[in-house]
Amino acid sequence: MKVGLAKLGTRSTLFLGIAFGSTHAMAQARPLPGNDVQQIYQRLLPQIDKIAAFDHHAHPGYSDDPDVDAMAAPPNATEALRTRDDNPELAVAAKALFGYPYSDLTPEHAKWLLDKKKQLKAQLTGTAYFDSILDKLNIETSVANRAMMADYLDPKRFVWVFFADSFMWPFNNAHETARNADEGVYIPLQEKMLQRWMQPETVSKLPAHFSAYLTFISRVLEDNAKRGGIAMKFEVAYFRPTTFSDPSSTQAEEIYQRYIAGGIPSEKEYRTFQDFIFRYLVQEGGRLHLPVHIHTAVGIGDYFNLSQSNIMNLESVLRDPRYASTTFVMIHGGYPPEREAIWLAAMKNVYLDSSFGELAQYPAAFKDTLKMWLETFPDKVTFGTDCFPYNEVLGAEESYWLGVKSSRMALAAALAEMVSEGEITEPRALELAHAYLHDTAVKLYGGRVR
Ligand SMILES: [Zn+2]
Repeated sequence: MKVGLAKLGTRSTLFLGIAFGSTHAMAQARPLPGNDVQQIYQRLLPQIDKIAAFDHHAHPGYSDDPDVDAMAAPPNATEALRTRDDNPELAVAAKALFGYPYSDLTPEHAKWLLDKKKQLKAQLTGTAYFDSILDKLNIETSVANRAMMADYLDPKRFVWVFFADSFMWPFNNAHETARNADEGVYIPLQEKMLQRWMQPETVSKLPAHFSAYLTFISRVLEDNAKRGGIAMKFEVAYFRPTTFSDPSSTQAEEIYQRYIAGGIPSEKEYRTFQDFIFRYLVQEGGRLHLPVHIHTAVGIGDYFNLSQSNIMNLESVLRDPRYASTTFVMIHGGYPPEREAIWLAAMKNVYLDSSFGELAQYPAAFKDTLKMWLETFPDKVTFGTDCFPYNEVLGAEESYWLGVKSSRMALAAALAEMVSEGEITEPRALELAHAYLHDTAVKLYGGRVR
């Protein structure tokens, strides 16, 4: 309370000075939008559609490409309503992108879409096909959060965010894998990823000594940055709780030396080791100017544990001054407790990405999420689609469309309400739209992206 009041004096003096023609609203804020809200929305939406976007979180690629992610959806996982592949909006997406003439996706109709995409891919060779998708959606640049980059993605339009989790699973993972059916899918893929990081380093087996293991990790990070990686990503919430203790390097070293040659660590030993490695990676992210992306939301798979992976578990790491030089991007903004999560962005180095929120919710609900964020820390929130190839018919293309269309609509609606309620002016609304869709994220990478 006191802080806000103390600031008020200076702010109102400034406010009087720039009253007319300023980008700040003149009137006292009102609790309900006026009758003009629909018109303001209609004015804002076409201008928002024209903003070339930076997609801060996406998994572009073809459905038969195993590198679109470092993990895979467990078989038969329960999907929430809007993310099911029978969502009729996906037929609308296919119509908008490819002129799909049907309003459903029955197998006979879906064949039209498969043939159409095949024909386009034959015409648009190399990287041209996916560039054309970004062009249709007015996405200037998209993150490609993938295990490895694909040669069919244009490095000028798609920037790589690589995965850093696998360094936390170097031991015998028999217990880890047996925990439930989902981990049975995830953990072997982490083992595979760790093997893949070893190949370019021409390491055939993990080092016998802990200090050499840390050197190996740093070398992979440095090499990935040289190969175009702009950030590292953790999906650790799928694999273990996101509560990280603060062990010493001696503790981590003892565990490494005990188990690197064999034997199964206890759960407590494994967690202690991982807690140290996670913090090591976070620190390296600061040294190497590689922002740290962390999955912070509910996730796929019936065993995904919401309370153990709650974004607020990360608060002790995010607010630790030792990591002040590391930039954190909270992927999916902590959804569903995204209301609490926005206050983490009070830290100057913490940002929230809205991807998945716009797919898990319909635009009417996602609008409220965005509005609450824009009313709190508008300069700390970024746009992402979390696009992913659903299957052979419904690809990253339709998924991009749903994400970008939903986000632009919800953004226009949130800003229209804020204007109508007297919180901001229309010019200010458009500034906030540019920041959210493009500028804020691009600034995090120091000129490496546009
Ligand atoms: Zn994702």
